Amino acid sequence: MPIATVNPATGETLKTFDPLGPEEIERRLATAYDTSRAYRTTSFEERARLLGRAADLLDQDAPDIGRTITTEMGKPVAQARAEAAKCAKAMRWYAEHAGELLADEHPSEADVKDSGASSARVVFRPLGVVLAVMPWNFPLWQVVRFAAPALMAGNVGLLKHSSNVPQTALYLEDLFRRAGFPEGCFQTLLIGSGAIESVLRDPRVAAATLTGSEPAGRSVASIAGDEVKKTVLELGGSDPFVVMDSADIVNAAKTAVTARVQNTGQSCIAAKRFIVHTDVYDAFTERFTSAMRALTVGDPMDEDTDVGPLSSEQGRSDLEELVDDAVSRGAQVLCGGGRPDGAGAGWFYEPTVLAGITPEMRVHREETFGPVATLYRVASLDEAVAVANDTPFGLSSNVWTRDEDDIERFVRDLEAGGVYINGMTASHPAFPFGGVKRSGYGRELAGHGIREFCNITTVWHG
Ligand code: NDP
Repeated sequence: MPIATVNPATGETLKTFDPLGPEEIERRLATAYDTSRAYRTTSFEERARLLGRAADLLDQDAPDIGRTITTEMGKPVAQARAEAAKCAKAMRWYAEHAGELLADEHPSEADVKDSGASSARVVFRPLGVVLAVMPWNFPLWQVVRFAAPALMAGNVGLLKHSSNVPQTALYLEDLFRRAGFPEGCFQTLLIGSGAIESVLRDPRVAAATLTGSEPAGRSVASIAGDEVKKTVLELGGSDPFVVMDSADIVNAAKTAVTARVQNTGQSCIAAKRFIVHTDVYDAFTERFTSAMRALTVGDPMDEDTDVGPLSSEQGRSDLEELVDDAVSRGAQVLCGGGRPDGAGAGWFYEPTVLAGITPEMRVHREETFGPVATLYRVASLDEAVAVANDTPFGLSSNVWTRDEDDIERFVRDLEAGGVYINGMTASHPAFPFGGVKRSGYGRELAGHGIREFCNITTVWHG
């Protein structure tokens, strides 16, 4: 895959970049490692000052970097600006909280005595250089939710970003440099995925985090496993959005639309499978489908656009194959189902609702990375839980109900890293984020995220 900015709204290649050669990669690895030896000794106050400055710069840059993101991967520009603001907020959150999240832990006096120590504590030390392999769908946020905690913990980052967002990747390196972080704290490697293995095997790289597809995750995790290096994987999702008979249907249907089409449907935590109790199925389906049909699809630079193009031609053809497969096996198309009229050379796809989904259809088991919703009718709580869990993924989940017993059951039984009740899944710096099953392992954000790349060290005094 060439490293290039290709506008998804027009298909036009705007700028191409040469991948870094072996000498430049070596220079950057050496810089990262040397910097990490000194940077690990800095105080939380100093790191927080630098990260706060990065947040301020990002807020100032939001209109410009928003347009760059929209040009590179096609999300509606208002959403791109909102992504920048969310990143600034996460930076400030970690700047404020990292010290307490990584404060020394003190075992109970009884346990200390029982171990034979005069005193003991647990300290959180950085691991060193962490490689981040990141995707294009939230090209700032996916990176910042790794970088903010990593830098606050005293680690340094090497970013291998998706090949279709090189300008955003270079912007991030520049942002941290302008904020005053020492050279080498955060570097972008413009390399193809084929060059990852040698970087990951390099002894100066301590660990890796990847957000993206399952094949990419499997590849990085197996190389890291071979090298016995820590990884965090945040892979795909096919989150259920369960609507029970006691639900507030009006709000559920409204939220369902946003939960499905945010970022033109290209989000790991987008609700993808809508599992609706039979007593409210018709009412929900009518509202949901008419709201999906009413969305404005078009130029992502237009402030009024709800749904932009998909990020790549491949992304659109993958989605088309999934929909065509479902339709050929009997799914009903309630709205959409193809390219909009006048799509031109851009990679647009209509907001689509499919009903009558059966387990043989690929959409039942695979991730639909675009504005395509699948509907299931269920007759009971047991059936809702069973359908929700009948997926290889387990990232997050959404449930709509006013019944406390339903809620307890979903919290107990849904196989996912999140259960969002009467709302939609959205990441927040204070809450851990990540999945089970094929959605990956480890957690980002909150205290859990910052500790993933720490050497959790026991200090024992005799
Ligand atoms: P990829 O997983 O291919 O890309 C994500 C990152 O991984 C990129 O930096 C990419 O680099 C890199 N990568 C790709 N292949 C490998 C590999 N074998 N070893 C190491 N790194 C690799 O996602 P795509 O953009 O191709 O999207 C395909 C599908 O992945 C989507 O349709 C969606 O289902 C899922 N996906 C999920 C995301 C999520 O948020 N969970 C985000 C993006 C995609 P390069 O760009 O150079 O190939």
